[in-house]
Amino acid sequence: MPTSPLPGVHRPLSRRTFICRAAGALALMSLPLRPRPAPAQEVRYGFIKPHPAAYWQGLPGGLVECGLCPRRCQVLPGERGNCGVRENREGKFFTLVYGNPTAVHLDPVEKKPFFHVLPGSASYSIATTGCNLHCKFCQNWEISQARPETTYNFDLSPEKVVAAARETGCASIAYTYVEPIIFYEYMTAIGALAKKAGILSTCHSAGSINPEPLEPLAGVLDAACVDLKSFDPKFYRDLVGGELEPVLNTLKTLRRRGVHLEIVNLVIPQLNDDPATLAGMCAWINQELGPLTPLHFSRFYPLYKMQNHYPTPVSTLDKAREIAVKAGLKYVYLGNIPGHQAENTYCHNCGKLAIARTGYSIGEMKLKNGSCGSCGVKIPGIWQKPRAA
Ligand code: SF4
Repeated sequence: MPTSPLPGVHRPLSRRTFICRAAGALALMSLPLRPRPAPAQEVRYGFIKPHPAAYWQGLPGGLVECGLCPRRCQVLPGERGNCGVRENREGKFFTLVYGNPTAVHLDPVEKKPFFHVLPGSASYSIATTGCNLHCKFCQNWEISQARPETTYNFDLSPEKVVAAARETGCASIAYTYVEPIIFYEYMTAIGALAKKAGILSTCHSAGSINPEPLEPLAGVLDAACVDLKSFDPKFYRDLVGGELEPVLNTLKTLRRRGVHLEIVNLVIPQLNDDPATLAGMCAWINQELGPLTPLHFSRFYPLYKMQNHYPTPVSTLDKAREIAVKAGLKYVYLGNIPGHQAENTYCHNCGKLAIARTGYSIGEMKLKNGSCGSCGVKIPGIWQKPRAA
């Protein structure tokens, strides 16, 4: 029964995965607030504790319809939904990813990426196996496209997650790496406990969830980083295996509910870098979510089923940023290009530097109590730790 002092995915790593994790670890070492290692947790291959699922209805013949995400899978007895983690057992629906994450890491909050949430703090980051999307460029396909009986999983109840986050000095818990919506019940249970403990709940999501389950989720989330993968429905159908419209609805709901929102757009050359489409996306963000919504354009590297596609030229990302700024967006960042000045935060009012960054490291911090150190205007974001209830 393998255990590890620093929990993670316990299996041979690809060269790329190793390099990414090493880079993350190096970045973590440079955090001003350096968390202690997470306590050792037990992992077991294929560990699953079925838990009643939320949002489903029974249909004639023992069939079950899942109402969690727009796929609305109709699942026969003994079968699973498209995400591979929700199962019909004799006419009742269960989640197989409650309390058994396969990845547990201490990450800089900047890695999510959140640039307007407690800069320089550490985030207790967890993911289970599974996903309701199937992006051909997935960074974490080894766990997102797997089933929980084929991964090493921790026995980590919601109570244990919150306790571990507190013990390791993390200001937030992040539901991340795969689509956290598929571990909805686990995420909302942790979120409710984290709120009482004064720890932020954050997620990195692709936003493909139905409106009904989204409302209670918005009640426990403090911040969400949402992938808007393209503004072209065809891109979603061909490369993501999903739909654009539900993502736009999710973004509007999160904004309405006051969840701090940051958007990520992975720019893939030739596939979603069309200037007119980018301009349309930025105009929509400005109009529906507001000009102060942080937008991160991220650089694509060859991955998963797109190993033969070339990395995004920096000039393409610079162009995307120009388009966004022209559309009126005030906080436009470029990701996966350490050292680029578009990693910094500049005040939307006076244009002066507010937070300097290199990769996941914070440099100069000119923010004072969430306001610009130069002109005093309030910068949108979460800048103070919440109090325990
Ligand atoms: S959450 Fe899973 S089972 Fe439910 S509709 Fe989505 S893909 Fe299907």
